[in-house]
Amino acid sequence: MTLDHLPIQELLEENKDHKCEGYGDDHICIRIAAIAELPTRFGDFQIVVFHNKHDDREHTALVRGDVTDAEDVPVRLHSECLTGDVLGSLRCDCRDQLEAALKSIGKLERGILLYMRQEGRGIGLVNKIRAYALQDYGLDTVEANLALGFRDDEREYSAAAHMLHSLKVKSIRLMTNNPRKIEDLIRLGVRVNGRIPHVMEPNEHNQFYLETKARKSGHLIDLRGRQRLSEQHDQGGKGMNVAQIETIQKMV
Ligand SMILES: [Zn+2]
Ligand SMILES: [Zn+2]
Repeated sequence: MTLDHLPIQELLEENKDHKCEGYGDDHICIRIAAIAELPTRFGDFQIVVFHNKHDDREHTALVRGDVTDAEDVPVRLHSECLTGDVLGSLRCDCRDQLEAALKSIGKLERGILLYMRQEGRGIGLVNKIRAYALQDYGLDTVEANLALGFRDDEREYSAAAHMLHSLKVKSIRLMTNNPRKIEDLIRLGVRVNGRIPHVMEPNEHNQFYLETKARKSGHLIDLRGRQRLSEQHDQGGKGMNVAQIETIQKMV
């Protein structure tokens, strides 16, 4: 397959002095800051790094082919998970989800993985590890799950919508099992022409996860018999308010 390329110079030039009214309630405005080739074990991509002057989060798009002016581009949104993505933690299935998405997109003519730097679903690494600690202390996993469920969806979707706009994508098909994500993106002006179910193929790494999921009907149990926290859970979740999180933190 001969892959088309992003018009790199054109995108960089357009974004050099980019400023707009911003997306969403928080008026998120970000711009493309750097682009390079990124061959990976999942296929050849180009990595596009965005600069966000609001909070210095460097969101990233892993782009396959030329997505500018393209319709129906398959897109996956992934939230950063240091413990899962990088360290191979079994407490969640983020890495399985990430690899499954990259494997699928790596076989396509074009596609995008948006890697959002929002550790622990926006609660940050410290709070995420505190939620893990709750479980280690044998407390109810419900509270820990709630703590992880507390995420700033709005900011993440606003940034994602802006990134797709910056890449000049005309319309997308979202790889997700959560229809709410689609509603959120549409509200932010993204044309979503459909949904691609995010199905993970069994492999030696996620076999256990899939078997457990089937056996326990949605309840994930890690190798030590503890329930796993599903940070990349596609069902969404309301999460706790700040006061509730503080209460739980005092318990650890
Ligand atoms: Zn902008
Ligand atoms: Zn994770």
